Amino acid sequence: MATSLSATTPRFTFASPTFQTLYSRLSIPLSLPLPLSSSHFLSDPKTLSSLSRHHRGLLSHCHRHSRGFATRAESENGSEPARHYDFDLFTIGAGSGGVRASRFAANFGASVAVCELPFSTISSDTTGGFGGTCVLRGCVPKKLLVYASNYSHEFEESHGFGWKYDAEPKHDWSTLMANKNAELQRLTGIYKNILKNAGVMLVEGRGKIVDPHTVDVDGKLYSARHIVISVGGRPFIPEIPGSEYAIDSDAALDLPSKPEKIAIVGGGYIAVEFAGIFNGLTSDVHVFIRQKKVLRGFDEEIRDFVAEQMSLRGIEIHTEESPQAIIKSADGSLSLKTNKGTVEGFSHVMFATGRRPNTKNLGLETVGVKMTKNGAIEVDEYSRTSVPSIWAVGDVTDRLNLTPVALMEGGALAKTLFQNEPTKPDYRAVPSAVFSQPPIGQVGLTEEQAIQEYGDVDIFTANFKPLKATISGLPDRVLMKLVVCAKTNKVLGLHMCGEDAAETVQGFAVAVKAGLTKADFDATVGIHPTAAEEFVTMRTPTRKIRKTSEEKIDSGVKAPAGV
Ligand SMILES: Cc1cc2nc3c(=O)[nH]c(=O)nc-3n(C[C@H](O)[C@H](O)[C@H](O)COP(=O)(O)OP(=O)(O)OC[C@H]3O[C@@H](n4cnc5c(N)ncnc54)[C@H](O)[C@@H]3O)c2cc1C
Repeated sequence: MATSLSATTPRFTFASPTFQTLYSRLSIPLSLPLPLSSSHFLSDPKTLSSLSRHHRGLLSHCHRHSRGFATRAESENGSEPARHYDFDLFTIGAGSGGVRASRFAANFGASVAVCELPFSTISSDTTGGFGGTCVLRGCVPKKLLVYASNYSHEFEESHGFGWKYDAEPKHDWSTLMANKNAELQRLTGIYKNILKNAGVMLVEGRGKIVDPHTVDVDGKLYSARHIVISVGGRPFIPEIPGSEYAIDSDAALDLPSKPEKIAIVGGGYIAVEFAGIFNGLTSDVHVFIRQKKVLRGFDEEIRDFVAEQMSLRGIEIHTEESPQAIIKSADGSLSLKTNKGTVEGFSHVMFATGRRPNTKNLGLETVGVKMTKNGAIEVDEYSRTSVPSIWAVGDVTDRLNLTPVALMEGGALAKTLFQNEPTKPDYRAVPSAVFSQPPIGQVGLTEEQAIQEYGDVDIFTANFKPLKATISGLPDRVLMKLVVCAKTNKVLGLHMCGEDAAETVQGFAVAVKAGLTKADFDATVGIHPTAAEEFVTMRTPTRKIRKTSEEKIDSGVKAPAGV
């Protein structure tokens, strides 16, 4: 039971890579109607008369069902047995984690309300929107822009296959932005409907915790047996002279015009993805990183490979350069001054230098919710904070900041609280992708992590020209890699950089999560002709790493299609 839960906070030392959009995970019914009118938001939770009959029915049904949970919750979170609470659960923030926790809790019979800030494409202290970062300012709009930007590469590829254009294809930025924003409006409406249809009460406004069982939303008080904080995070731009001229990822997804020349500061997955987007949309792209390589935390070979492929597509990567100032010239153009010099003539400077949890002015200090020095909420393995009735899921806890992980945490919490099934999120073998160009997919351990953990590992790699590139004539290549435990033959890690890497790795992630061995991979018949078949046809290790030595075996270049 929850009283005996350990108070350790799981933390992840590796950088958090990325991944799949939300559509499939939430099984979003795409035919659902568009946004609700504001009359669907409840202004006074205490008077059920303000609810529609449908809601009243749902709520009384929920209360009937939740009586059993109430008794259970009393002893464990300091709630008073005889006290009436407006809700079993009040969720602050309707992003991936909050929506999942609320919806599942309601499905399990709890009475639930969720508050969320009004919609805007740009987040602030006062704006957000149902659906959260992933849907409105992250995974979804980003992937739509990745699709848009891929075409230029495909146009180039097509020439080798006989396509001729009388004129160079032109891109209309405003069409892209208008269509993208219409889709975001549709999605935020869908999220409201998902919650509403589950019987969750929607409250529009900024939530703040007043006491362990009370949330204030813009002056109105709501009491709840449990509170879940799922407020996510926002981009962070370091203070340097001229930082007011910089844009963040929110703004970069919603620019009024295409950047002609853009500096992207940062080497994480968001920086690398935006570099690909703007490069594909024919901007002149410069990436500035403090370190020697992009994508800290990813497999070293993949890091090198993707940087090389990005450079071949025309992205200039400035390594070991820290920004010191942004200077605006009389003609409006921007210069970026770094420790190594100044690069001039940018139309935009984007900072992709990390995100900070939205925990300021949330009332956490008042009620005694413990936070890390970065402002992330500390939780135990069940997502419980230092205050027994308050829980936190998703990016605000800074565990593994990915949408599917926030969903997992939200779902696990609902089970723990309302299904009498204490459930810890399982962070083993979480697959992820970077939608760079070419994209990366990965699951399990990097070579470096595997050596550290297991000592003796066998590495299988294939670095080859994909079939498409034989005729397109472009310098595209694919890198695929298996990290295998020498002792058990288990596949510990699987990495790919090349076309369709994210789709490919999602499938193989099941095998890695299931703990399958290299022999299982070898026993699987490939699908021909694909790049993915390489994962089941790598026979000879590229190198065998033993605690004391490294034996390199040159397995040569892959024969086309494994023939
Ligand atoms: C550019 C970008 C690209 C990304 N790409 C991917 C990707 O490809 N794959 C992937 O898995 N992940 C991706 N992510 C990460 C992913 O978006 C997050 O991990 C995920 O959205 C976290 O969900 P969450 O519920 O914790 O928080 P969020 O989705 O951020 O939701 C928090 C919500 O709380 C609201 N809120 C904040 N404060 C309050 C308050 N006081 N009262 C009421 N509401 C409040 C906010 O408005 C927001 O809607 C990306 C992120 C970014 C920024």
